[in-house]
This record gives sequence, C-alpha cells and structure tokens, in this order.
Amino acid sequence: MADTAVGERVTWLNATAGRITNETSSVRTIELAVPGWPGHRAGQHLDVRLTADDGYQAERSYSIASAPGEPVSITVERLDDGEVSPYLTEDLRPGDELEVRGPIGGYFVWDGDDQGTPLLLVGGGSGVVPLRSIVRHRERIGATTPTRLLYSARSLADVIYHAELDSYHDGVEVIYTLTRDQPPGWTGHTGRVDAAMLADVAWPTAQDPLTFVCGPTSFVEAVAGGLVGLGYPPVRVKTERFGATGS
Ligand SMILES: Cc1cc2nc3c(=O)[nH]c(=O)nc-3n(C[C@H](O)[C@H](O)[C@H](O)COP(=O)(O)OP(=O)(O)OC[C@H]3O[C@@H](n4cnc5c(N)ncnc54)[C@H](O)[C@@H]3O)c2cc1C
Repeated sequence: MADTAVGERVTWLNATAGRITNETSSVRTIELAVPGWPGHRAGQHLDVRLTADDGYQAERSYSIASAPGEPVSITVERLDDGEVSPYLTEDLRPGDELEVRGPIGGYFVWDGDDQGTPLLLVGGGSGVVPLRSIVRHRERIGATTPTRLLYSARSLADVIYHAELDSYHDGVEVIYTLTRDQPPGWTGHTGRVDAAMLADVAWPTAQDPLTFVCGPTSFVEAVAGGLVGLGYPPVRVKTERFGATGS
C-alpha cells in the first residue's frame, strides 16, 4: 500500500469519472475508475489535474472519501469563485476523463492497528471527507475502537454524508454542531467548536485518545489548540488543513 509524502514523485494516472452523487446543494461525490491505482490508506489524499483544450492545466488536492479497498472517490465542495471546484461539481459527467496522482500522505492516516485507544475525529465542512474514510475503514475491518466524530457544518442541509453518518451505531457517535442555522427544536450543539464544546465531547486524556482534525486552516488551528489546552499531547492530535477556504 502506498505511503507517499507530499513532494515525492508519483505518476499521473488517467482517471474516468463514474457514479456521481449529490451530497448537498454544493457538494458532490465523484467515483473514479483509475487503472493502475496502487490502493490507499484511510485519510490519504490525491491530486487532480485538469487540462483545458488550450493546454492550460490546474491541479488541486482532494481527500480520498472511500475506504481502502473501495473504488477511489472524492467529495468536492463548490466554491463559487473557485477555478477547479465549480467544474468538478457542476460540469463533470460520468465518462469524463481527468488525471490523478496519489495516494499522498503517510501521517494523517488511520490503519486500524491502534484499536486500544479511542478515536476522536473533528471535521469542519468538507474536512469531514477523510474522516468518513476512516469511519468506513473502521467498519470494514470490524474494529471496535470507540469513535466520536464532531462535525461542524453551517446547517443540517450542509451536512455531507448525512444519511450514512446517522446510520452508524456500535461504538461510533456522530455529534453535530450547526454554526449558522438550526432547525426548529434543534437540541444539539450550535456555533463554532470552542474549548467548552471540546471539553464536553472529547475523550478524557487518561484514555490516550488519537485525534484527527481536518478542515479550513483557521478551524484546524482553533480545534487543535483547544485540544492541547485540554491536555491532549500534540503528538496525538493529527491535523490536515484544506487552506483558507473549504467550508
Ligand atoms: C490535503 C488537501 C485535501 C483537500 N481535500 C478537499 C476535499 O476533500 N474536498 C474539497 O472540497 N476540498 C478539498 N481541498 C481543497 C481543494 O484542494 C481546493 O482548494 C478547493 O476545491 C478550491 O479549489 P478551487 O480551484 O475551486 O478554488 P481556487 O481557484 O483555488 O480559489 C480558492 C479560493 O481562493 C480565492 N482566490 C483564488 N485566487 C485568489 C487570489 N489571487 N487572491 C485572493 N483570493 C484568491 C478564491 O476566491 C476562492 O475563494 C483539499 C485541500 C488540501 C490541501
């Protein structure tokens, strides 16, 4: 299984878009057929390269949304003023071709070999994508690792993989916080993830939890800082930043 650091040479592979699923009004999951794909680990990402008719190329990174052993898929959120994401979320059709390079990353991964300590997964917006791969991998290998996913979305309508996340039981707790709009009668968390919310949701440090935090840079920094403030050792808090945007 590939374990590739950013910057290492990885070959560009031809990929064909397969099934496309609308997750929310602005987010799509795209299954990719990639002949020669070496397999991936839960939490890794890949690069997508698009080439226009005039030869202009654009590359962006996307977390791999599927579990190891499943067909490669990515989940893309449209940024209205972005260059690549509007194409992937609006124009790309099954059968269309693009190039991918990967899998990339050997740090923000969970292989399931550390099942004795609980998992805390914290995602903001599309930062939930690699965390979904981790939860799916946990299910597929029959791991019993107690797992909590704290997921920050603007509203319920913005929750990606909603039905799937609500279907998890048996040791997987999904806890939402809705930052902008809450439906009538909402009794869950509201507002941004802060120290008080983390103190409420996070596993006690005595259990030596392993944490994965992913989302926009400001979100990741706030959450990681909050966890360290609760006494989580930085080495047990793995982070993946999507850049200034992404939620
Ligand atoms: C490891 C990793 C994994 C990622 N995984 C995912 C994922 O699973 N799903 C996902 O949706 N995204 C993911 N991303 C983010 C993704 O790579 C893209 O950044 C995102 O799709 C936006 O690309 P874009 O081409 O549409 O926007 P861009 O054209 O790159 O623009 C992004 C934003 O920057 C602004 N901008 C662009 N140029 C300028 C400029 N010159 N000055 C000021 N502002 C500017 C735009 O207005 C826009 O709001 C990931 C990123 C990383 C690094």
